[in-house]
Amino acid sequence: MDYEVTIIGAGAVGCAIAYELSKNYASILVIEKEDGICKGISSRNSEVIHAGIYYAENSLKAKLCVEGNALIYDFCEKKGVPHKRTTKLIVANGNSEEILLEEIFKKGTKNGAELRFLTQVEAKKLEPNINVTSAIFSPNTGIVDSHSYTQALLTSSGAELVLRTKVVGIEKKSGGYRVIVREHTSEEFSFTTKILVNSAGLYSDEIAKLCGIEEANYTLAFCKGDYFSVQNGKNKLVNRLIYPVVKKDFKGLGVHVTLSLGGEMRLGPDVEFISKAENYSISPNKKQAFYEAVKSFLPFVEIEDLSPEMSGIRPKLAFYEGSPDFVINEESGKNLPNLVNLIGIESPGLTSSLAIAKVVLQKLKSV
Ligand SMILES: Cc1cc2nc3c(=O)[nH]c(=O)nc-3n(C[C@H](O)[C@H](O)[C@H](O)COP(=O)(O)OP(=O)(O)OC[C@H]3O[C@@H](n4cnc5c(N)ncnc54)[C@H](O)[C@@H]3O)c2cc1C
Repeated sequence: MDYEVTIIGAGAVGCAIAYELSKNYASILVIEKEDGICKGISSRNSEVIHAGIYYAENSLKAKLCVEGNALIYDFCEKKGVPHKRTTKLIVANGNSEEILLEEIFKKGTKNGAELRFLTQVEAKKLEPNINVTSAIFSPNTGIVDSHSYTQALLTSSGAELVLRTKVVGIEKKSGGYRVIVREHTSEEFSFTTKILVNSAGLYSDEIAKLCGIEEANYTLAFCKGDYFSVQNGKNKLVNRLIYPVVKKDFKGLGVHVTLSLGGEMRLGPDVEFISKAENYSISPNKKQAFYEAVKSFLPFVEIEDLSPEMSGIRPKLAFYEGSPDFVINEESGKNLPNLVNLIGIESPGLTSSLAIAKVVLQKLKSV
């Protein structure tokens, strides 16, 4: 075999897997269709280190987010990756929201997230400029520079990286797989690998199909999230990430406030299903909806403060309602041993990346 391990996709998750597997395997190749690492979902997100609050009990999302939270802080501290433990408030306004806040608190603490209830006075002390009647304080929520993080993972792994090279075919062979790739020059070549990891983000369902897996459960739908920046110095009026309570019928976390490492303030992401991956255009007409979504808890924001900033696309498993769990499958059961498919790695995938990588290693060890 040419390689022991080949990982398709140089996003945060693919590079975390390279880092973790490098502890057990000598020759690892990471293959990426773009001209650099961290150009897919990992480059278009809130860069929040989540605490593990919202996810269903006993789900992979809940478990791996809580584990990944500790692992990512530890990794960033050791490797000098820019990050900040900003902390976060989830704010309620009025009785009906306070009931939802209590449910979020119960769910989060069951998941193992460290959380504290704050009275109005306590919350106002932290954030004097917001409207709030009570809040949850999350001390372990933070932000990270996802590009530096992905680069540090790849560098620390010592894996070989090939850019501008797209995987276009996969054939099962005795003892492994033949991977057929097309370079940016349109030239095709192939190589062999014992272990194949599909960490292709928005295209992971297509890679599974190349392996002969036509499982409907793996089909992805694309859910865009837009962000609007908040201008005119209003970023100075908040000190941390601020989220509204999640409404029961809502598919995301609600338009909320995130901060960049440079201190810029942005609102988002919203939730919009689109038919095709990689359409990042933002309609300026959404300004009103973003304003409406935050005006109850951010009274200082005015519609003129908002400008379209960027968008990202979530790889949602198409045949599930609400928030389906991560799929991390070693495919011996489909007669494809040493193939690992990672499908539907949406939020909190960045936070969970090192914990996801540990699951991949465990699954490969038990083949
Ligand atoms: C709007 C939004 C907000 C989010 N906010 C957060 C957050 O605050 N915190 C958090 O923890 N998570 C967040 N997430 C989730 C997080 O960003 C993702 O879970 C994570 O980045 C996924 O990483 P990945 O490596 O799986 O995918 P990607 O970063 O997309 O990497 C996959 C790579 O595979 C490559 N590829 C695809 N097909 C091929 C092929 N055929 N051949 C070669 N290469 C290929 C792609 O080019 C891409 O670079 C958010 C996601 C979105 C969309």
